[in-house]
Amino acid sequence: MEYGKKFVRHISRCLECGDQIRYGRTDKKFCCEECKARHHNNMAKAARAARNKILAMINRNYDILDELLEAGKSSADLLELTASGFTPSAVTSYRRSGKHDEFTCYDIRYFMTRTRLFSIMKIQNLSVNLRSGTELKDL
Ligand SMILES: [Zn+2]
Repeated sequence: MEYGKKFVRHISRCLECGDQIRYGRTDKKFCCEECKARHHNNMAKAARAARNKILAMINRNYDILDELLEAGKSSADLLELTASGFTPSAVTSYRRSGKHDEFTCYDIRYFMTRTRLFSIMKIQNLSVNLRSGTELKDL
């Protein structure tokens, strides 16, 4: 029987460098201030990278939607869009409008179903709405 095992003190390891933490409280997470600072910087960097990744997806969506509008199109097949890099989940706003799901990507508004986007259009009075803080109105 190994009764002794449960009395062995848990050895804490630094979250940053993995070194054993030899002194301090048992819930201490870092071996030194440098590791603590480095860890928090890395976490902040990772959070920034995650935000930038989402912004890049939104910007890519905007470029795709803008190209459609410039080509005179107001609807598109969702499968084709995703094949060209469109990310349906990357939106700047969503609301249920009547029986449709309405999305915006900055100043471009569209409705999206499981298979297509339609009524894609630029929101002309977005700046006015942003200034007054009111909800986007149907055009
Ligand atoms: Zn450390």
